[in-house]
Amino acid sequence: MTSDGFDIETLCRHWKVSALAELTAHPNESHRAATAVIDLAERAAVRWTFNTGAIACGPGCGSCCQLNVAILEPEADLLARHLCRHLSANRLQRMQEHLNRLAIRVSGLDDEERLACRIPCPLLDTGGNCSIHPVRPLMCRAITSTDAAACREAFALAALGETPRVLMNLRHRQIYAGAFEALATALAEAGRDDRSLPLILFLREKLAG
Ligand code: SF4
Repeated sequence: MTSDGFDIETLCRHWKVSALAELTAHPNESHRAATAVIDLAERAAVRWTFNTGAIACGPGCGSCCQLNVAILEPEADLLARHLCRHLSANRLQRMQEHLNRLAIRVSGLDDEERLACRIPCPLLDTGGNCSIHPVRPLMCRAITSTDAAACREAFALAALGETPRVLMNLRHRQIYAGAFEALATALAEAGRDDRSLPLILFLREKLAG
């Protein structure tokens, strides 16, 4: 526990129990477990990060949305349901075709190689906004910058092979990375698919499923 009472281990245990309860009560609706953990982590972020440094991320800045984002099955379920609810049949078909092309493009690339290729997330819109922002994955929430200009510069340099170094609010990151681990642990304890896969691959799998 830190001097201000922040205790990530206790929070994570609580989040895991909540996710496990959702997975047990609704075995065919795993998105509920993702939603529960996201809501709890959001509340923790409001409570525990208000005086730990401003976050510069905002609408129209998709600088980091070219990173390889790992997601868990309940998050893939949540994304797939959101897209099926909000996209027309034609747009959904185009999204699936786009995901198929991207899956081939990123196949065999490690995180650095993928970053150097500057392949934008398929869910980033043309205005640089996350098109599924309310249900974005935990690891997207974990990546924050405290300096938008420095962040843009870091990712531009990444295209030249440099490892991006971004100033982040570390407590914010700790909360969402902890929530991701809590959800993964709940999946493992429930005997469910606890793989973490790149967003492109897991979403493609879910939409095809
Ligand atoms: S899901 Fe949204 S926030 Fe995450 S990488 Fe894609 S566009 Fe960015």
